[in-house]
Amino acid sequence: MRRFALRIAAMAALFCGQPFQPEALAWHDKTHLSVAEAAGFELWYSSAAPDVAKSKEMFEPFEKPNHFCNNTANQPVTPEMVMKQAGSYNKPCDDEGHLYGAIIGSVREYQAASRTGKYANYPLVYCAHYCGDLSMPLHNTPYDDFNKKRHSTNDGIIEESVRGNIAKIRKMMRPPVIRSEADLAKEIAAVAESARQLGIKMRQENRNMSVEEAYAQIARSASLFKAILTWTGQEAPGAEPPAKTAASN
Ligand SMILES: [Zn+2]
Repeated sequence: MRRFALRIAAMAALFCGQPFQPEALAWHDKTHLSVAEAAGFELWYSSAAPDVAKSKEMFEPFEKPNHFCNNTANQPVTPEMVMKQAGSYNKPCDDEGHLYGAIIGSVREYQAASRTGKYANYPLVYCAHYCGDLSMPLHNTPYDDFNKKRHSTNDGIIEESVRGNIAKIRKMMRPPVIRSEADLAKEIAAVAESARQLGIKMRQENRNMSVEEAYAQIARSASLFKAILTWTGQEAPGAEPPAKTAASN
């Protein structure tokens, strides 16, 4: 099976015309769980799962570019840049990454599944995860030597303390109001730009994130995801989410 998976991954890499790259890292698992729990997401305990899915080699070419945007041109992140990536969700062959579009794409998947009455919460699990990645400075800046050298350390800056600090994150949260996809694109751009600016500062000062900077970043992620939950929940006021059935497994 592993050989089969490797062959699929190698074929995808060949198809992409790109070298098969090792797995990119992200906030560590407990940090992702805490973002989703602080936002009040029912399935918070699954929000590290997209990294689990990404770790399977046959899925990596498709899932990995959903987790970062290298922004090699060092452009300020705008709502237009976010919307330009929206059609790239789950598309392989993208070394630059399309994290911003993945948030829009996962919300669209949730909305489409909700309209058909299907169990729709799994796309929101992906959305919770991508909202977490969005505030990580090294997921929004070029994958250069600085990024490679410091990525793992910065992914884990608050990993040991974060599960005991949900109340602290909640106190720091300022959820925006989202009423449309255009609002969502604007808020994604704002969080991404905050992360990009912090990434620039870290490079200038040749240092890691401080603990307080990391908490401020994940509070931004949690605020955005809470706003998404409020917005998408308002689409069908009072409706009970359909129960998960065997057919939806
Ligand atoms: Zn990730």
